[in-house]
Amino acid sequence: MSTFVFAPPAQPAVAVRGSSALFPARRVYCVGRNYAAHAVEMGHDPNREPPFFFMKTPDALLPDGDVFPYPPGTSDVHHEIEMVVALAGGGVDVSEGEALALVFGYGVGIDFTRRDLQGEAKNLARPWEVGKAFDHAAPCGALAPAAEIGHPTSGAVTLDVNGARRQTGDLNQLIWTVPEMIAGLSRLFELQPGDLIFTGTPAGVGPVVRGDRLDGAVEGVGTLAITVA
Ligand code: MN
Repeated sequence: MSTFVFAPPAQPAVAVRGSSALFPARRVYCVGRNYAAHAVEMGHDPNREPPFFFMKTPDALLPDGDVFPYPPGTSDVHHEIEMVVALAGGGVDVSEGEALALVFGYGVGIDFTRRDLQGEAKNLARPWEVGKAFDHAAPCGALAPAAEIGHPTSGAVTLDVNGARRQTGDLNQLIWTVPEMIAGLSRLFELQPGDLIFTGTPAGVGPVVRGDRLDGAVEGVGTLAITVA
């Protein structure tokens, strides 16, 4: 039997509300421009440019209550509050009708973005990893099992910075619904248990600075508190 040349890294995982068991994370998919108001604030026309997918890395997950170290190489880190979908099943070419049966539960996440580096990448037609897939860039609070909360299709999505409301939206404003995201992803990738989907952010994104306290919430799902250090 083979051994590893050094100890393998820890399995990234997300807490589960009301349980000591952890959700083992495999891939972190993200949806870009899935709320029309955010697409407009970023200078895009949601009627001409549909949402799209990108990825973060699972080792970038941060738990609720943790500290987000201000990352290097940037002076413009933005918060993006998002509902997160956690999959306990997978497949390819999943139909929209089958999609919700794959969902384990839902969480509240922040898609931290080095906006200056993302902007450079956009301008130069380069990949987005330096803007999106950096260390600690994917806080995600404890997952609420769908068996307990169902599959939310409406509910406020909010983010406060130091007690002041910065982002406001509603799950009923998602351009791609959760079944549409799962079906669409499964036409491009083989989905597997442990996959997470950050579902896109409503309007009001903006910069954070060291010392900021971020409080996110998705009505019917949960909350997430993160401090910038
Ligand atoms: Mn996002």
